[in-house]
Amino acid sequence: MEEQLKKSDTLNVVGELAAGIAHEIRNPMTALKGFIQLLQSSVDESKYSMYFDVISSELNRIESIITEFLVLAKPQAISYEKKDVTKIMKETLDLMSAQAVLENVQFETFFASEKEILYCEPKQLKQVFINILKNAIEVMPKGGTVTISISEKNDYVTISIKDQGIGIPEDKLKKLGEPFYTTKDRGTGLGLMVSYKIVEEHKGYIEVDSEVGKGTTFHIYLPKNLNER
Ligand code: ADP
Ligand code: MG
Repeated sequence: MEEQLKKSDTLNVVGELAAGIAHEIRNPMTALKGFIQLLQSSVDESKYSMYFDVISSELNRIESIITEFLVLAKPQAISYEKKDVTKIMKETLDLMSAQAVLENVQFETFFASEKEILYCEPKQLKQVFINILKNAIEVMPKGGTVTISISEKNDYVTISIKDQGIGIPEDKLKKLGEPFYTTKDRGTGLGLMVSYKIVEEHKGYIEVDSEVGKGTTFHIYLPKNLNER
């Protein structure tokens, strides 16, 4: 319990800082991108193409960090509505199907019922699904199957996302969701923090089952009876 309190305190502070910093960085970034494009069109591009590749890949990286940060920024008019989570998941899977094909990953789905209506913020839930699905894909460099199930039990809807990746050692499980915790060369360590935060705001919680060498399952529990607010 104490551990959980500490975690969400940190999240609030990070969230408030995030909004300010993200906006401050966005503007100069836009200018940089514009001038680099101008430069690219006015010099012998073939001679410098490697430099331009590095510049654009690094700029994209900054952009993805900023975008993940901005999701944390509270004021962004959050509006809860009654929505079908199954539909939100289907849309997310469509959105990610190109990346999955490219990485040799198949999505397998088990939806217990056709519809699962929840009071939620659909854009934010989609972001949670994207973050966890992305991790599942990234953890299977040779491809594999990601299994997505949605079911309902004891006033909660459970969304489970299972991969066949390397798994997570037990002593690392508690690090999940900590800001900047990443084991990837090009990771931001923000995706899970954002996801935990969003699920917490929905009065839900996330559990992780993992077996090293076999794979990992993320279970997202969302309450069915979240009071309208
Ligand atoms: P990032 O993906 O940028 O590293 P995340 O917050 O999404 O940041 O994930 C943090 C870390 O949690 C990852 O670097 C990885 O070590 C671990 N992780 C998350 N999802 C999985 C998974 N499905 N299998 C194994 N490890 C995972
Ligand atoms: Mg990630």
